[in-house]
Amino acid sequence: MIDIKYDLEDIKNKRKTIKKLLFERSINIKADNFSKIEDNDLYILFELYDKIFLFSWFKENFKGKIILKLSKQLSRAAGNTKTSKCIAEMKPEEIKFEIKISLNHLINFNKVDRIKYVGGIEAASVLDGLMLIFEHEICHVIEFLIYHKSSCSKKNFKNLIYNIFGHVESTHKLIGVKEANMSIFGMRPGDNVKFMAEGRTYNGFIQKINTRATVMCFDERGRYIDEFGRRLTKFYVPLESLMKDD
Ligand SMILES: [Zn+2]
Repeated sequence: MIDIKYDLEDIKNKRKTIKKLLFERSINIKADNFSKIEDNDLYILFELYDKIFLFSWFKENFKGKIILKLSKQLSRAAGNTKTSKCIAEMKPEEIKFEIKISLNHLINFNKVDRIKYVGGIEAASVLDGLMLIFEHEICHVIEFLIYHKSSCSKKNFKNLIYNIFGHVESTHKLIGVKEANMSIFGMRPGDNVKFMAEGRTYNGFIQKINTRATVMCFDERGRYIDEFGRRLTKFYVPLESLMKDD
């Protein structure tokens, strides 16, 4: 597998073939922009990648197990590959990988209108995004099998993913939860906001935005004290419950 090298035209054509076969086989994914996906689609995708890019190496040689999962927990990383720390000492049939793909990144894909990249390659659709993330994670599996460790910031990984999939970067510029939320609700850290909780209105400012906003509110009984000696309480508030307060 380490010797595989495709040129960029080849890679494009192989991706096209994979899409075509995926649309035939998946009951959820029938077009580039899909709105439903389940774990089973990842298994179909893996089989297709193995066949089209890797000469069915996994099907014919790999004795271990690969678990593929869509994850709602990943918020920063678009994908993640894990295996046992002692992979070097394991029997082939004991080796197990778990690849997680972030559902949030797929859901958020079209929420912000800008060009998105994965691995330095433009992802024009949510399926492009998914496939490029998947390619990155497949390279982690291959690197783990060859070197018993894997790091996408190091040279081995960069060579591998460039040769097989043409990626020139090991990061992605997809839409994270934070960017999607900020763009939809038009809120940024530092903004003054108000919200209702337990029948009263709280006034404060946004300290941080993730899936929810961290809001600091002035409150005589608060545990936090700012540089002026004012007391504050910290709240985690869903963005849709916040109102701007100017
Ligand atoms: Zn990585």
